[in-house]
Amino acid sequence: MCGIVAYIGTQEAYPIIIKGLQRLEYRGYDSAGVALMNGTLNVYKRKGKVQDLLDFADDKSTKGNVGIGHTRWATHGKPDDLNAHPHVSSNGRLTLVHNGIIENYEPLKKALQKDGYTFSSETDTEVLINLIQSIQDHDDLSLEEAVRIALTKVNGAYAIVVLDKNDPNKLVAARKASPLVLGIGEDELFFASDATPIIEYTKKVVYLNDLEIAVANRNGEFEIRTIDNSLTTPYVQELEMEIERIEKGGYDYFMLKEIHEQPKTICDAMRGRMNASEGWIRLGGLEEHSNRLVNADRIIIAACGTSWHSGLIAEYLFEELARMPVEVEYASELRYRNPVITEKDVVIAVSQSGETADTLAAIELADEKGALIYGIVNVVGSSIARASDAGSYIHAGPEIGVASTKAFTGQVTVLTLMALNLAFKRGKISKTYYHQLLTEMEAIPGKIEKILKSNSKIEYIAGEIKDSTNALYLGRGYNFPVALEGALKLKEISYIHAEGYPAAEMKHGPIALIDENMPVVVIATNQSAYEKIVSNVQEVKARNGKVIAVVTEGEKIISQMADYTIEIPETLEPLTPLLSVIPMQLLSYHIALMRGCNVDQPRNLAKSVTVE
Ligand code: GLU
Repeated sequence: MCGIVAYIGTQEAYPIIIKGLQRLEYRGYDSAGVALMNGTLNVYKRKGKVQDLLDFADDKSTKGNVGIGHTRWATHGKPDDLNAHPHVSSNGRLTLVHNGIIENYEPLKKALQKDGYTFSSETDTEVLINLIQSIQDHDDLSLEEAVRIALTKVNGAYAIVVLDKNDPNKLVAARKASPLVLGIGEDELFFASDATPIIEYTKKVVYLNDLEIAVANRNGEFEIRTIDNSLTTPYVQELEMEIERIEKGGYDYFMLKEIHEQPKTICDAMRGRMNASEGWIRLGGLEEHSNRLVNADRIIIAACGTSWHSGLIAEYLFEELARMPVEVEYASELRYRNPVITEKDVVIAVSQSGETADTLAAIELADEKGALIYGIVNVVGSSIARASDAGSYIHAGPEIGVASTKAFTGQVTVLTLMALNLAFKRGKISKTYYHQLLTEMEAIPGKIEKILKSNSKIEYIAGEIKDSTNALYLGRGYNFPVALEGALKLKEISYIHAEGYPAAEMKHGPIALIDENMPVVVIATNQSAYEKIVSNVQEVKARNGKVIAVVTEGEKIISQMADYTIEIPETLEPLTPLLSVIPMQLLSYHIALMRGCNVDQPRNLAKSVTVE
């Protein structure tokens, strides 16, 4: 994964790079490093967060108008100082930061070692920088030409920026399957993994395409060529991002801010796309391919992690409302299974970042098989957005907390609109129910506001169960995926082992684990299977389990049996996940905080998973 920031221009590079790396820490925080050119080349790198690098470099020279920086999510080699980026070539001339994996690094490394190149780290990245050096040594080529030739010899994924100490008036960058954006300022240029490090300096950017190599010169000029060496005409875009959206805005953590943003982000996901009183839903991408979607044999949803949970909710929605068969697949499994996919299928890719490597590969495969690809992503211009035939952005704004919250509800919102639109077009839903659901959609943000007011109650419950070592989450129907999502949130940020189960499955195994130390979170808002879930709660109580029940306002039976109750406003059953997930998010947030965990940057995780 990793975050990359690079600068060339007239300002001091170091503060720009450091600030940018801190914004990109969601992408990885195993180590951080910078290389700065100021007559001589200074490289500083440190295991840990960007703050550790800052402390380390405090008494060192950080001057220079050219520099590259990196925050790492280790794939090859443990997180330590030596494996941290930037990596320097054997002769000390070239420096590189890299996001991705060089898959054929081993044979390349062996060949380079034979020729006398030495290595000080275990990374695949160091192989690439020595490969570039070896090409330069051999043919005395310009940096960009050496980079270009080197990249024709590697397999895998990369976003790279290279600095040559003998030619410090330029930076050379390239990408394949890992994101990289070029920022164009006045007499200055930037590279970064996403636009957040750039926005306060310029709004003009170019998203590099796969297999493109950019040369950024100190005078602010740049050139982009393909790996085949043909010059391209770059597409310069205006960023719409606002700086406030990537700052904490008074909250202690991004996760808490993002949880509280949900009434607004759900509105943003619906804005201009539906009108309850007029009874219409319009999703640009869907209208364009209406025929194929309406008449599809099957919908396949490909996703990973939290996005996979939104996909599971969509399975219930599409099947119940639009009467379409749906399969929800882990993208990593789908892509390697030689699945049966035809041109009559629609594959919906769901990904917050739009860069998830497995999801991207899955849609590329489905595309080869002729399916229509529909992307539901948050990050505008991301790889999945570009690789899709059509799609809808969720418009949640930058999500910085590593554990996804507002992106999840944004995805569910868009998927609900899609299901309703298809249900209507396929004539599978009554007019009355369609109108009821649309009207209720508009009421959801207000109902979330209300749930957010239970924050202190949820915090109290968190205090009661924070020392548990395991937890079980149960739900039925639409709320089964919410149980999975609740368990995932707890695991991710508090490191408590948790599992989500369909409530009725509990008796086929997990019930053996229940005792007085086991908190069981039960999402019991379902209208259709209410009695069943009452029985499930009885079964837990009969074994002394501690029940935390999420119920509909005014509910009496489960509330009396449960140890703790969290009420949520009543809504129509297909829309309950948008409400019931909020207490799940707050509960895990508070538990993690009480256990002293860094809720925004949980260990071992990164936000955008651009490796397989
Ligand atoms: N493969 C490189 C490393 O381990 C970069 C990792 C990444 O981008 O995730 O250092």
